Amino acid sequence: MDSVWEKEKELVVKIVAATSSSGNMQQVYDSIPNKKMMSLDNGEILEIICMDGRLNESEKQSRVYARDGGSGILRAAEGLEKIAEDYMRAAMELGVSTIRLTSHSDCGAWNLSGKDQKGGEKFYAELQQALVKKISEADLPIEVIFEHIPNDKHNKEGAGLCGSHVERAVYYAALPSFNPQAVPGLPTGFVVSREYFSPNYAITNTAIAIKIAFGEHGFGERFSDGQPFLLVAVARSEEKLEEAKAELEQAKALAIEKYLKDVLKADEKIKVTGFVVGE
Ligand SMILES: [Zn+2]
Repeated sequence: MDSVWEKEKELVVKIVAATSSSGNMQQVYDSIPNKKMMSLDNGEILEIICMDGRLNESEKQSRVYARDGGSGILRAAEGLEKIAEDYMRAAMELGVSTIRLTSHSDCGAWNLSGKDQKGGEKFYAELQQALVKKISEADLPIEVIFEHIPNDKHNKEGAGLCGSHVERAVYYAALPSFNPQAVPGLPTGFVVSREYFSPNYAITNTAIAIKIAFGEHGFGERFSDGQPFLLVAVARSEEKLEEAKAELEQAKALAIEKYLKDVLKADEKIKVTGFVVGE
């Protein structure tokens, strides 16, 4: 855990400096070479994946990502119909031929949902069914597959799903798809797809990610004014970027009020920043 923290220290210093001088981390993002794969909106497969930053699916190409806590499990109260409809709409807009719905081992959102093993499995099976039904009613040529991602697939350098949460950021993606793991050069982070969810839901997810990072399984007490947890808005235009940053300020306030009451100077330990991704 120490070496992982040390590895990204310098990068975080750079991001903090850029953000305090210009309000965002655009120059840091722009200086990263070979970042073609970081943003995709023409993939063939829509991946519905948890926001968990330990999930590394970056080896896959031609994929777009919709990411939230536990692939919809925290939205169970909204009803499967509504969740399925949102994912179907996303798939239509993206023009994909496959939706890959996933769950994963050691999922914090799954735990938070209060569902046990059986209850969670039932939720994903029913969500897949609801999606298939919606798609067939709309007569769309989209296949829905489901996959559970187990611990053993993600054990690189002991930093897999069974390891600690090493996220230093949340990427708040206000664009069709964003995968920070596809190219090295950005801090490890959770990903919340603002694009496919309501602002309230995306803000709540971000607050939960902050809670996990500051909790006992995350870097917790290491965060400071100089090494803050970063809330990173990612958008296609300056206007969208400012909107997303305003939502991140709300997420920060929500997390501090709800989860970080015992954290001293929490306000200084979380910083909002962002960057615009070109077409
Ligand atoms: Zn998860």
